Parts: sequence; C-alpha cells; structure tokens
Amino acid sequence: MDAKHVRTMSATNFFDGEHFEKSTLTMKRRVDAHVNALPANFAVQASQKTRLISRMNAAPRVKLSKIFALVDEYAELRKPFVACAEECDSCCHMNVQITNVEAERIEKSTGKKAKFLRADTCHPVTKFAGVPCPFLVNRRCSIYEDRPLLCRSHASFDVDSYWCAPERMNAAELPMISITDAQVAVSEIAHESAARRFADIRDFFG
Ligand code: SF4
Repeated sequence: MDAKHVRTMSATNFFDGEHFEKSTLTMKRRVDAHVNALPANFAVQASQKTRLISRMNAAPRVKLSKIFALVDEYAELRKPFVACAEECDSCCHMNVQITNVEAERIEKSTGKKAKFLRADTCHPVTKFAGVPCPFLVNRRCSIYEDRPLLCRSHASFDVDSYWCAPERMNAAELPMISITDAQVAVSEIAHESAARRFADIRDFFG
C-alpha cells in the first residue's frame, strides 16, 4: 500500500473552474492532513505486509481476503478525511475493473455465476459513467463484505460528492491517494490463477 503516493492531476474538460480550484485546494489539504495523521511507518509497513501476502503459499482467495483486510484497515484511518458516506452511491455508477479472483469471491457469496470471459476488457473511462453496478440495491452495496478492491480503495478527499456525479466524474482529475501496492498484489494473485481475467464487474455479472 503506497499511502504516500499522492497524485495531483490537471483538469481536462471541467466546466466550473472556480469550483475545481477550490476543490483542488481542499483535497490537497485533506490528503496532506491524512498522510500526516497516519501512524509512523504505516505506509512502509503496509507495503511490506502486502508484499508478504502476495508471496504467501496460499490459495488466491485466502491471499485476496488478507489484502482486503489490510486495505480496510487503511480505509478506517482515511475515514475522517474523505467525503465518502454510507448513503452515497456515486462511485457505484462508474467503471469497476475487477479480476477473476474477485469475481469468484462474489460468485461464492451471492451464488450468482460469473460469466466466462474469453478475453480481458478495458473500457474507456466514460463507458459506465452513470450506469449502476449490478450489485447496487436500493442505493446500497449488496455485496459489501465481498466488494472488489477498487470499491474499497476509491475515496474522495473532497468535502462532498460534487465531483463524483456521473456528469463530472471524468471531467477533472483531482488530488487523491493511490494504493498501488494493493492493486499490484491483487493483479499478481489473479495472474497466479488458471482462469486469469481482468474486466469490468458488469462484464462478469451484467
Ligand atoms: S460492488 Fe458494491 S461498492 Fe462496488 S460498485 Fe458495486 S455496489 Fe458499489
């Protein structure tokens, strides 16, 4: 987990410059405050633990559970600094790229069979803007304990979900934190499995 990897990107097609500037400053401040509030060596230790899990001699689903637990631990520390709240479902209306190992975990918990995919998919970022995830029920995640890494790691450091609305979610790129180590580990776990596949959650379950 690379909690110190802060991405600051430029806007491409935003339409409210004043709001964008304000949000950028707010989010930078909250990212910094969050990073400063992390326990000493948290990022380094999390990164080491992630690598150890990735190299464990264990079944992919076991390793995935351990990575998820680590990411959830980090997400708890992040909570005071993000806009994400239980009643918000904005990020359930965007692309959700997952691996076959994550699809298998969902399949096991829901009994819903994942589709057999002959090839990986990599959709344009706007492909599912505004399209609800198949597991969104009454504006809540129906597979919360088994939701994929992307859903666990995605968070807005703004004070509200203004930039998460479908019409804006891809219009501007704002300060955020990437948990690259966890993403790499989940990708490596998927590569170990015979049915290795990367696709959107809707490709597997839509
Ligand atoms: S899996 Fe759950 S949290 Fe993730 S997009 Fe779907 S409904 Fe939202």
